[in-house]
Amino acid sequence: MRITALAGGVGGAKLAHGLAQILLPENLTIIVNTGDDFEHLGLYICPDLDTVCYTLAGMANPETGWGRAGETWNAMTNLKRLGAPDWFNLGDSDLATHIERTRRLKEGQTLSQIMRDFCKAWGVKHAVLPMSDQPVRTIVETEEGDLPFQEYFVHRRCEPRVQGFRFEGVGAAEPACGAYEALQSAEAVIICPSNPWVSIDPILRVIGEIDKPVFAVSPIIGGQTVKGPAAKMYRELGIEPSALAVAKHYRSLLTGFVMDSVDAQLAEEVQGLNMRVFVTNTLMKSLDDRMQLAKEVVRFIGEAI
Ligand code: GDP
Repeated sequence: MRITALAGGVGGAKLAHGLAQILLPENLTIIVNTGDDFEHLGLYICPDLDTVCYTLAGMANPETGWGRAGETWNAMTNLKRLGAPDWFNLGDSDLATHIERTRRLKEGQTLSQIMRDFCKAWGVKHAVLPMSDQPVRTIVETEEGDLPFQEYFVHRRCEPRVQGFRFEGVGAAEPACGAYEALQSAEAVIICPSNPWVSIDPILRVIGEIDKPVFAVSPIIGGQTVKGPAAKMYRELGIEPSALAVAKHYRSLLTGFVMDSVDAQLAEEVQGLNMRVFVTNTLMKSLDDRMQLAKEVVRFIGEAI
């Protein structure tokens, strides 16, 4: 089965990791959100891309889900002492990624070229592509004004009430090199359990219409997120957060939807949206959970298409 997966950071990376365990490199491409990329301390930082790559490389910090395992913080400690902004933590090993990426971007290399080289160096065999080589910036429209995504997410800890989202630059952004081909050759597209508003919507806006069967895994379990602000965003936008709300969000795209067993009572209503439904354990606490879910999702797709 040849799959293209769409992913944000933490939740997306977990399923992408499971898929990478069961699909050969030629059968899996992961297209990652870059709407929350930003420049900080003069460095170009790609939080979702790095989370997916570190996870696939087995280098991710298992506690936080972001950053590197076994990280040290000497640079950050010394930056703070010099009065540098300290609201975004960057570990020493992680900094090497940002420094080298920034240097190469300044030389004129594209983000997809750079990530291809980094993946090779880290031993990641599956293709991990940024959604675009052009900048797209997610702006969170809040009651306190517009906030660039990382200002909202990290600096303001998702506190301001959300009113909407905008993706600056999306009109001019082309899918990154290889993304179009991956979508063309895929038998199905999987939307990983990532934040629909700020991780998946930007990717969908950049890649446009998908003429392949699309399957999504709900990031909302029992009305709540495992991590992050997706449920809070739904509530603030006047929508009850639930797997059903996620299915409705992607409704026009979906052939099938995977939701957690704790939400089994919603399955019939989701089916009523004219899509197939598969109910299983979707909480990925271990590598086994990731592989198990990946296998089940691929089997479900095989039966549905
Ligand atoms: P971010 O960019 O780092 O916030 O990451 P994502 O957008 O990829 O992931 C955030 C979403 O992943 C949240 O809505 C979480 O509920 C969801 N998530 C995280 N871990 C899991 C998991 O184990 N299972 C499921 N179903 N969703 C998860």
